[in-house]
Order: sequence, then C-alpha cells, then structure tokens
Amino acid sequence: YLHRVAKRYPAGHDALSDVTLTLEQGEMAFLTGHSGAGKSTLMKLIALIERPTRGQVVINNQNISQVRRSQVAKFRRNVGVIFQDFFRYQLTVRENIAVGRIAYLDDDTQIKESAEKSLAAEVVADLPGGYDQVLGKRFAGGQDLSGGQWQKIALARAYIRDAQLLILDEPTSALDARAEYEVFQRFSELIEGKTAVLISHRFSTVRMADVILFLEFGRRLEMGAHEELMELNGRYAELFRLQARGY
Ligand code: ADP
Ligand code: MG
Repeated sequence: YLHRVAKRYPAGHDALSDVTLTLEQGEMAFLTGHSGAGKSTLMKLIALIERPTRGQVVINNQNISQVRRSQVAKFRRNVGVIFQDFFRYQLTVRENIAVGRIAYLDDDTQIKESAEKSLAAEVVADLPGGYDQVLGKRFAGGQDLSGGQWQKIALARAYIRDAQLLILDEPTSALDARAEYEVFQRFSELIEGKTAVLISHRFSTVRMADVILFLEFGRRLEMGAHEELMELNGRYAELFRLQARGY
C-alpha cells in the first residue's frame, strides 16, 4: 500500500502530494481524475517504477525503501503494466507479445492463447506474415498498426506475463467505444483473482472497483466505493451522472 506518498519531478511542482491508498490482494482500484491529476505518477509508484519523494510504499508489510534490491526486483516481476504510451516495438508480432515473458518466445501455444484473450489474434489474422509479421514502418516489409491494434498487442503482453498485480493505464485512449468495452471486458477476465489498478477518466467500468480514488492536482479529492461516493454526492457523483447520460 501507499502511505502519504508524494512525488516531485525535478524542477517541478508536486505531481502528487500526501496520497494514501491501501490495496488488498485480489482487490481492484480505480484511479480517476482529469489529465495531469497525477494518475500515471501514482501508478508508477505502485508499479515500483519510480520512488516517492516523500512517504512510503509498502508491499506485504515490507517498506520498499528498506528492502534489498533483489527483493524489489522480485516484486517488480509480479507487476504487469499496460501503459497509456505503450511501447511499439519494431519487432515481429510474436516478439512483441513475448516481450511480456521472453521464455515463451518459441511457445506458440502461449503466444496464441494470449493473443486470443487480448483480441490481438484478430489483428494477426489480417497480417500477411501472421505472427512473424514485422510491425512498425521503420523496416522494409514492416506493417504499422492503428492505435487500437497496438493496444491489443500490448494487452497480449500482459496476458502472457501472468503477473499478480495488473495495472491498466488509460487503455481506451486509442479505442472506439465498442473496442473499449471489449478491452475492459477482457481486462476483467485477466484480473480475476488478482490485484488490479485501472486508470481511466471514463467511468464505464467503475462499478467493478472495490475502491475508487479521485485525484485532483495530485491530491486525493474523494475516495471510496461507488455507492459511498454516490452518497457523498461530490465531484465523482456529479461526473458519474454526467457520463451516464452519454452511454
Ligand atoms: P495523469 O496521468 O493524471 O494525466 P500524470 O501523473 O501523468 O497525470 O502527471 C501529473 C503531473 O506531473 C503533470 O503536471 C505532469 O506534467 C507532471 N509529470 C508527469 N511525468 C513527469 C516527468 N517525468 N517529469 C516531469 N513532470 C512530470
Ligand atoms: Mg496518465
């Protein structure tokens, strides 16, 4: 869990200040807030990609700043992150997926299973080279994909990784509404029995969450379960009603 963490980037204001979040095993947290509110920053602290400037990150009762590097590396291996700005590797489809777990590079069954779960298999079906198609346009014969198609490849990476903590950061930015719904559905299958953090400014799947954290200017504005926040009748409730009208 995170205890009163803060994060300041060099030469910047606090991207995050005094935020506390506890996540039990098997729970799902939903982080929301406007662009620049600090959602991705908080995600990087949870994923142990960055360290907080102040406060503590504690996993299994162990303070991350006080454990050995090897232990931190072990925790990290159990985290799977699908980034908003996910990597578009100029590699074959097979390699792009296996990046999530390189031991499976030659394991067709694992690669295809992950691709089917993430819907990347549909993308692959349209590629002349199938799983051996080079992606990206940097090399001759490379085939570039749309944002939504890349997203499905990135999701396949998370499936093959089989991590205990899964984080999906604004997965829907490049997807249309139907594809977004599908990715969320897939993600909810992916996270079954696991701990998960979903980051989005759209509320379409928010009811799945055990806890919702609404960030504003790097601070906690509201936190609680959906019903609690609706009852609170604050900003979350206001935005939820506003968005509900759009669905
Ligand atoms: P969100 O994901 O909610 O849109 P971010 O966590 O990405 O918000 O950003 C929060 C704030 O931190 C913003 O003001 C952003 O400009 C700043 N920020 C994010 N990453 C960096 C970085 N690597 N260096 C400097 N400032 C950053
Ligand atoms: Mg972000």
